[in-house]
Amino acid sequence: MALIVHKYGGTSMGSTERIRNVAKRVAKWARAGHQMVVVPSAMSGETNRLLGLAKELAPSSTTPELQRELDMIAATGEQVSVGLLAIALQGEGMPAVSYTGWQVPIDTDSAFTKARIQRIDDQRVRADLAAGKVVIITGFQGVDAERNITTLGRGGSDTSAVAVAAALKADECLIYTDVDGVYTTDPRIVEQARRLHTISFEEMLEMASLGSKVLQIRSVEFAGKYRVPLRVLSSFTPWDIPIEEEASSGTLITFEEDVKMEQAVVSGIAFNRDEAKISLLGVPDRPGIAFSILGPVAEANIDVDVIIQNVSHDGKTDFSFTVHRNDYARTIELLKSSVVPKTGAAEVSGDPKICKVSIVGIGMRSHVGVASRMFQALSDEGINIQMITTSEIKTSVVIDEKYMELAVRALHKAFDLDQPAAV
Ligand code: ADP
Ligand code: ASP
Ligand code: MG
Repeated sequence: MALIVHKYGGTSMGSTERIRNVAKRVAKWARAGHQMVVVPSAMSGETNRLLGLAKELAPSSTTPELQRELDMIAATGEQVSVGLLAIALQGEGMPAVSYTGWQVPIDTDSAFTKARIQRIDDQRVRADLAAGKVVIITGFQGVDAERNITTLGRGGSDTSAVAVAAALKADECLIYTDVDGVYTTDPRIVEQARRLHTISFEEMLEMASLGSKVLQIRSVEFAGKYRVPLRVLSSFTPWDIPIEEEASSGTLITFEEDVKMEQAVVSGIAFNRDEAKISLLGVPDRPGIAFSILGPVAEANIDVDVIIQNVSHDGKTDFSFTVHRNDYARTIELLKSSVVPKTGAAEVSGDPKICKVSIVGIGMRSHVGVASRMFQALSDEGINIQMITTSEIKTSVVIDEKYMELAVRALHKAFDLDQPAAV
């Protein structure tokens, strides 16, 4: 008998029919003798609908008071899901009980709309499991020290599931979704994308942080920190397939350090359309200039990603960086109002229509010339590279958004990801 956590995403919970299927699948695992905890998302489209309602009333507000209410509203989507799933399980003759984040409780900090989990109290859950019940816990939400409802950021149910699995020291956390595993790139963009049987934790962390939304990045961080065995698999297989078959399907996130010789150099390609580029032109090139530009940006709680500073001419330089698109207007405003007057920069310019495309692979550590192969593939397609950033196991480029799909396809081919992997 094992303690297993299942997480079901929005599409998997998308209708009462699908919820019934989830219930049948979970009941199958429970009847096989496992203790089951289930963490579902809101039904697909529901979180967008709820946040859309709030936006109708406050189109441009970003005050902390508003953020608090957004969490109050968005968290209701998951509350409906857990209740429906509990009813469906009871209908299958399986004792089940649902809890919200604050009932467990799942304690978080107070960073509304992107809260971090600090502690999970496992007492109530363990008592229910011992009593033979399936425990269903809302994804995406928690509660802060002042008992405000918080949410963990979009896609946060993955993180709830892995954190619950870590707190309960579960034997495995299975992330059921609308694709049958982690692919070499988003299969919706590249038809030839291949499913990976395994992916190293490090690569998954990079893929998630560089835009692959199949797992929220914090869920991968949690899995790494607490060594939670994690698998991504399809919720669209027939619910009654044998458990052994189901349990070995999909993609396993592995924690092995050693890279096999035949390991592909590049394992996957990620892309991110959520960023915007901002440039300060004609900045005096003197010590402290980067700090005087990015200091106020950091103080305004705006995350900066790629940064480049050009070679200076006549004591002046250009300085560019990327921020989340949601922060674009705010950053431009901030630079114009406080950074330009202080630094004496000539001009602020920006482009919200960019995208970042990245190649990821632990094989990059032991191979040279990988980045140049990437640049060649992009150049062959006539795609101009605006910014470049590299780390040990990834290289990212910022390009015009309109070339995103072309770039991803070209790189997928250039690194032989269309071909079946060597075994
Ligand atoms: P859920 O609602 O189950 O959490 P998500 O939409 O958050 O599902 O994540 C699954 C989606 O992630 C897939 O439908 C797919 O389009 C996308 N995706 C992006 N990159 C990848 C990848 N490398 N492998 C698999 N899916 C990916
Ligand atoms: N329902 C939330 C969202 O849409 C959380 C999740 O699905 O993981 O972002
Ligand atoms: Mg998701």
